[in-house]
Amino acid sequence: MHQARTKIVCTLGPSTPNQQIIERMIKSGMSIARLNMSHGSENEHLDMAKNVRRASKHLKKPIGIMVDVPGTKFRIGPVKAGVVNLGINNNVELTSTNKDGNDRLFNVVPEGIEDNIETGDSILIDDGLIELKVISVEKTSLKCSVIRGGRVTEGRGVASPGKSSQNLFPSKKATQALEFAAKINADFVALSTITNPEDVITAREILLKNGCSPFIISKIERQEAMNNFDSILSESDGIMVARGDLGVDVQLAKVPVIQKEIITKSNAAGKPVITATQMLESMINSSIPTRAEVTDVANAIFDGTDAIMLSGETSIGKYPVESTQVMTDVALHTEPTLPYEKLILEKQIHQESKTDDVISYDACQSAHQLNAKAIIAFTESGSTAGRVSKYRPKTPILALTASENVQRLLTIRWGVTPITTKTLSTVEDFFDEAQSKAIEVMDAKHNDKIVLVAGLPIGVAGGTNLMRVLEII
Ligand code: PGA
Ligand code: MN
Repeated sequence: MHQARTKIVCTLGPSTPNQQIIERMIKSGMSIARLNMSHGSENEHLDMAKNVRRASKHLKKPIGIMVDVPGTKFRIGPVKAGVVNLGINNNVELTSTNKDGNDRLFNVVPEGIEDNIETGDSILIDDGLIELKVISVEKTSLKCSVIRGGRVTEGRGVASPGKSSQNLFPSKKATQALEFAAKINADFVALSTITNPEDVITAREILLKNGCSPFIISKIERQEAMNNFDSILSESDGIMVARGDLGVDVQLAKVPVIQKEIITKSNAAGKPVITATQMLESMINSSIPTRAEVTDVANAIFDGTDAIMLSGETSIGKYPVESTQVMTDVALHTEPTLPYEKLILEKQIHQESKTDDVISYDACQSAHQLNAKAIIAFTESGSTAGRVSKYRPKTPILALTASENVQRLLTIRWGVTPITTKTLSTVEDFFDEAQSKAIEVMDAKHNDKIVLVAGLPIGVAGGTNLMRVLEII
């Protein structure tokens, strides 16, 4: 199995109903499984989480679990016929009143779609696939005409550009999802539609209260979140470029530039960033992607993304395994062409005046200069391996950790292969273990060089302060 440096997040759903299919996705390169709590029941998510843990154990490969917490987003309520085809120029009413949807009227949940909306505003359904224009604003509804028609089903998002829902974080649903994340000991928690750093702090408090401290990934999908990006980044452990809702709340044509800005800033801070939504959208129904899609995946990697994500492609699509494989194939063809020498020079300006950051940078440069087989980081919290990943070395990064939790947290880090090791108590133990893992995992041979980083004394949590170059004997 050839694993890409870029990590692959796959959303689970009706298309991934059992352990076998999840194992096939892992073999095709999935590193994180995402449970999107906006859809499906808690029991379904619990079953999927169990299948992931079983599959991971069976294949002896760490897989992170990401719980995606619903935001405050309006959605289409129940639709009587299951699906309605909206024709152009028809009139349709969006109402806060609880009624089954038909071709003239849709219930929008939660209540309040009519707040802040004015006559003439545009309303986008299903990430903009369908467009309505507001003709009049009523007490609990909006009367609209259809500008761009299409298929409407229950659960599709409803939004007006720049006028996102004003409900405060966390909603009842969000709190339940956070509690669920704690219950299954999720490795990552993604926060939808947040707009400010206080939302991240609140989520972290709820998780901690429930005995869980996962990586918190802030999804950037609102203009307001972009306005507060720097402070959101500093409160978060990672970021997601959530292009679906972002492309509704900001002008669609701005999305590529915003993507680059978010990735650049996250890279500089050494925090992992995921590029998400519609990466291989056509593969929901087709066994091969479009040229534009594979180019989008490659360009996200050139932009510097740590991870690439699949949503509908794997959760409700016909080809979950094939989609995952396409991500891996594109990454494997793109990664060798990254300008590693230039990257490491450019990234020097992001070096912090801290011993662990300086050593991590030096390890990357030495490994490059010496054409080393691997950089091996002994990491107690995962932060050392993360710092090495920040500098995007051409040399593969092997993270040794005694903790399975930390191993799973590292599934998001670009270029890092996290493996568990026995508890090490002396620095000689580490040197020996690093050598044998380099031989076992990286296929290192006699005379190959490896670059080691660790914090001394071994076994005491603290900063990285040691770098050593070893030749395999
Ligand atoms: P979602 O988030 O799939 O939960 O909506 C991603 C996005 O909006 O792009
Ligand atoms: Mn979204």
